Amino acid sequence: MRLAIFGAQRLGVVTGDGVADVTGALPWPHDADPLTAGWWRRLCRDFEAVRPALAAAARGAAALPLAGVSLAAPVLNPSKIIAVASNYAGHVSEMHDVQRRTLGRVESWMMEFDVFLKAPSAVTGPAGTVVLPPAEVAAGHEIHHEAELAVVVGPGGKDIPPGRALGALAGYTIGLDITVRGAADRSRRKSYDTFCPLGPWLTTSDEVGDPASLRIELERNGVLRQQVSTSDMLVSVADLVAYASSVMTLLPGDVILTGAPPGVGPIAAGDKLRVRIGRLGEMELSVR
Ligand code: MN
Repeated sequence: MRLAIFGAQRLGVVTGDGVADVTGALPWPHDADPLTAGWWRRLCRDFEAVRPALAAAARGAAALPLAGVSLAAPVLNPSKIIAVASNYAGHVSEMHDVQRRTLGRVESWMMEFDVFLKAPSAVTGPAGTVVLPPAEVAAGHEIHHEAELAVVVGPGGKDIPPGRALGALAGYTIGLDITVRGAADRSRRKSYDTFCPLGPWLTTSDEVGDPASLRIELERNGVLRQQVSTSDMLVSVADLVAYASSVMTLLPGDVILTGAPPGVGPIAAGDKLRVRIGRLGEMELSVR
């Protein structure tokens, strides 16, 4: 099932090129205020129990044309956005040149697989605009796109064994981990407002199947920059979810960006970024 948040925090089920408003089928009060919208996190936790009611409501509702609605990121108040460093060999390799150019040296600790945090306030929707921070642009710092498979946590938990990790998820979406290159801490360089576009919707785990069989593609102004299969990940989705949960409790609705494929590069005002992931859809962002 493809779950979208649209309009005034409405819940939609996406079918073809339409979206059915199934907000009324939620078994809990729906609150349109994003700051108190716990209904979305409950849905991530309890999706399996709620699915039949949503499916029935979607069958009974007239679908609105997708082109006519405003889609938001498929997250509401996540407790955290976790991101993964160094999860594709091709990206680790290209970062040697990127770091020499933008940092003047190679920081070996940055080449090691690990998790870090990105501010949830950086999230923007699938038709959003990435706003380049004027001070960073004026300083001549490169700002890069990183197109990534994003997982949305379902029941979650702490110390989840790899064998149960995929079952702890609600599903998958497309993420962009926009990054200022430079010497400052990652959490600051990756947390500017609009630096985490997510969308276009949450595709639930049953519909995605094996997360190691997805193709990620990013085009900048029509030119292909990133193209990879998620089978190239150094640490699988199950293993990285297990690792992240060994550090911190994964709560329903949290997001994990699973690492940048090779092909990262600078973006500039006026750019159009189109990102596609097989079975998850596509989104197009503007840059200013
Ligand atoms: Mn990244």
